[in-house]
Amino acid sequence: MFSVLCDEQFSGPCSSRAQALLAWYRKHARDLPWRHTVDPYHIWISEIMLQQTQVATVLPRYAAWFDVFPDIATLAAARLDAVLKAWEGLGYYRRARFIHAAAQYVVEHQAGVFPGDVDTMLKLPGIGRSTAGAISSFCFGTYTPVLDGNVKRVLARWHGLPDVKDRALWQLAQQAIDASGEPDTWNQAMMELGATACQPKPACGHCPVNGFCESSFHVAAAGAKRDSIPVLDVHWRVHLHRHAERGIWLTRRPETGIWAGLWTPPITELSEAPDMPPTHIHLLTHRRIHLYAELLVGQPEGDGQWVPDTRTLALPTGIHRLLEKHGG
Ligand code: SF4
Repeated sequence: MFSVLCDEQFSGPCSSRAQALLAWYRKHARDLPWRHTVDPYHIWISEIMLQQTQVATVLPRYAAWFDVFPDIATLAAARLDAVLKAWEGLGYYRRARFIHAAAQYVVEHQAGVFPGDVDTMLKLPGIGRSTAGAISSFCFGTYTPVLDGNVKRVLARWHGLPDVKDRALWQLAQQAIDASGEPDTWNQAMMELGATACQPKPACGHCPVNGFCESSFHVAAAGAKRDSIPVLDVHWRVHLHRHAERGIWLTRRPETGIWAGLWTPPITELSEAPDMPPTHIHLLTHRRIHLYAELLVGQPEGDGQWVPDTRTLALPTGIHRLLEKHGG
């Protein structure tokens, strides 16, 4: 089996670990707005926003989201551009497209009511087993584990299995939540531990379960090395056409790839760095995009439109920063 720690009906060290983790969570959990609701729509939006985006970035967008889209019906009826606009600054815009499509599915097939069972949730675009587990446990109290990147890391370390496969992790996650007695709090606590003490560089000295973890104090160097993925430098020329009355010329990015579906000035991808400093460098998880602004005169060519006010469309944060540095 995977580990001796959690065998035998989850008695002994495993239940002690569960108690230690739950007690730590109750005392030290961050006070976050989505932890004050069991409304599936709110939980769903928070879970999708929190995928690949920091909590500090999500907080203002989460609050603003419900001003624009107070319910699923409003979201489903909105234009995609409005949804992308509300998503601005969160990155990975594919998530916004999935949310929009899922809302339309819910209106069409679920009478506008977010589904209460996992199987139906899994039919919604952008919702996988882990996200469905989170929503179901938080809103309906089911024993459905979360297994996002943070929780995978925690479980693998607890059991001293750095190369464990997902299938085995799902089993371990199910055993652990079954033994917890409090599925909603358990999932929150696991996610909190992975986001705080048990990050890629773990703080085992401050970890509430360091007495029940097979990797405690042995993972720092290996963990940091294993989790580091090289960042690729890319160089893009950004062609700026401005007009006193009409504004700036923008085109829509392709439906796939970086900044998919967002609006930017025309961009040329360069094969190497030009002989000039970049106007702005924008960081993505695995990309460092060097942006070089180039001011052009004359009538722009190709698809696009004049935009008098860039606040009306969804632009990538990197382009906003470039425009600020290049005359607003
Ligand atoms: S003891 Fe260290 S490796 Fe184990 S769960 Fe805690 S922080 Fe992670």
